[in-house]
Parts: sequence; structure tokens; C-alpha cells
Amino acid sequence: MDDRDGKIWMDGQLVEWRDAKVHVLTHTLHYGCGAFEGVRAYNTAKGPAIFRLREHTERLFNSAKILRMPMPFTIEQIEQAQIEVVKANNLESGYIRPLVWLGSEKLGVSPKGAKVHLMVAAWTWGAYLGEEGMKRGIRVKTSSYTRHHVNITMTQAKAVSNYTNSILANMEATDDGYDEAMLLDSAGFVSEGAGENLFIIKNGMIYTPDLSAGALNGITRNTIFAIAKDLGLEIKEKRITRDEVYIADEAFFTGTAAEVTPIRELDRIQIGIGSRGPITEKIQSAFFDIVNGRNPKYAHWLTQVE
Ligand code: PMP
Repeated sequence: MDDRDGKIWMDGQLVEWRDAKVHVLTHTLHYGCGAFEGVRAYNTAKGPAIFRLREHTERLFNSAKILRMPMPFTIEQIEQAQIEVVKANNLESGYIRPLVWLGSEKLGVSPKGAKVHLMVAAWTWGAYLGEEGMKRGIRVKTSSYTRHHVNITMTQAKAVSNYTNSILANMEATDDGYDEAMLLDSAGFVSEGAGENLFIIKNGMIYTPDLSAGALNGITRNTIFAIAKDLGLEIKEKRITRDEVYIADEAFFTGTAAEVTPIRELDRIQIGIGSRGPITEKIQSAFFDIVNGRNPKYAHWLTQVE
């Protein structure tokens, strides 16, 4: 990943991919106080375009605010950095990763005196949970790890340190032969996937956990709300139990990386027809129309790179 040609934006400048390095005494490397984004650029008829750039960049700034990290750049500058990185790496489509971290100016738990740094990288990245999974659905395991309680870490920040919990859950699930983990909150209600929001469908109604279950306020989740409205489907945010997922007609994960990934099984129990369900397929298809620039109603969600 580190030894390749290309450019990475670092603290205001494009640098060679291989030279985009930090010191081993980087504060965030030791204590995990940092935040990131995951953004996608899609290949539209008008060329590459970044999907919901403003919302992702605002979330990055909100994450930094929650983590008390003063940002040394403006939202507009970080939007521009993402556009530049897609251009500089000649990407037609791909995944964009902005990261904000505390530098090596000082060590010790208190970050006071450490500088806030920013970088933006981008590379080509296909279906996160596999092309096959997008069609047939994936197999998911309820994690033995609990999702963060809302007052243990800050669940609306896309904080670097929040992802140890995701890594543990994902490794446990994949080591057991599943594709991904689903986590419950500390009260036992469904929260989200290791890197995805969750939706279920029952009798034509769509349900998703409300954010008090510690789930991230996903931008794809929000996109699904708009799609459902357009399709005449109703979404209800509520507390969901794991057995409600077992007996749902359909289920799917959403995320910038995962896009809209159907779930065909939870804990070896088949969900619905055990494949991508008909409503999930409609939503997935509407999603790809929007991100690929085929739905003019949502043209404002796409920032053309050229
Ligand atoms: N939950 C978690 C834990 C995530 O990491 C992600 C991916 N950013 C999501 C949900 C989905 O968020 P989004 O749709 O904004 O990518």
C-alpha cells in the first residue's frame, strides 16, 4: 500500500505517495485520538465525480470538533484537497480517505501542544464486501463484542479509536467464516455492522436502528432515506432486536465502502429467501443510478472532478 507511485495531499501540499510519512512518536499512533472519512468518487458520463463531498467533509470537521481538535484548514480547502487527489492520481473512480491526526510534537496523554495534521489519499477500490456479495448477499455473525456505549467514546465522531471495536468484531466474524459482523449496543439492541449501517425490511416497511444505539450517522444511510421516499417506501428508526433480523423478509448493510450490500444470513439463520430480496434490489439499483449520475434529481450530490 505504501510503496507505489501517486500523490497524497499532506498538510496543504501534494507529496509523493512513498514520501507521505509520519514519525513513530506521532500522538495519534499512541493514543488513537484522530478522525477520518471514507468518501467515494464514481465514474459518471461527465467524468469522475465525488459523491456527497460536502456532507463527508462536514462530518470530518464535526468529528474533529467532538474530539477537540482545532482544524488548521477550512471545509472548502479540504474539499479542494479531495478533488485534487482524485485528479493527481488519474482516478476514474475510487475511494478517498481524509485523515486528521495529532503529530509528534509532544507525547503524553494530553494532546495540548501537539499539532493537528491532515492528509487525503485516494485509490481504486471495488466492492468492499465482494461483487458476489452484492448479488447474492453476505453472511453475517452477531458479534460477541458490544458496540460502543454513547458515553464511553463519541459515536457520532468517525474517530480512529472507535475502530478497534470494529476490527475485533470483523476479525472474530471472518475467522469464523462469516463475511462481516453485526454489533449490539450495551442494552442488547442492534446497533450496526463493523463499518456499515443496517436496515431490515418486514411486510414492506423498512426499519433501521435509531442513532442512540451507537451507530454512526451514515451518509449512505441518509441516502437510503431519500431513495425510500422516492420509491414510496416508509422507513422507521427504532430499537431492533437480533431476532427481528432473523425473521425479517430482507436485510442489508449500507456504507460508503459497502454501498448497498444485501445480507442473506445472520448467525447461520437464513433471512427471507436467503438471497438479495426484491426491495433491496430496487434500492440498490436506485443507489447506483444516483452515484453514477443517472438520476438528475440528485445531480447536486455529485461534485465533478474535471
Ligand atoms: N458505521 C460505521 C461504523 C462505519 O464505519 C461506516 C462507514 N463510514 C458507516 C456506518 C456508514 O457510514 P457512511 O454511509 O457515511 O459511509
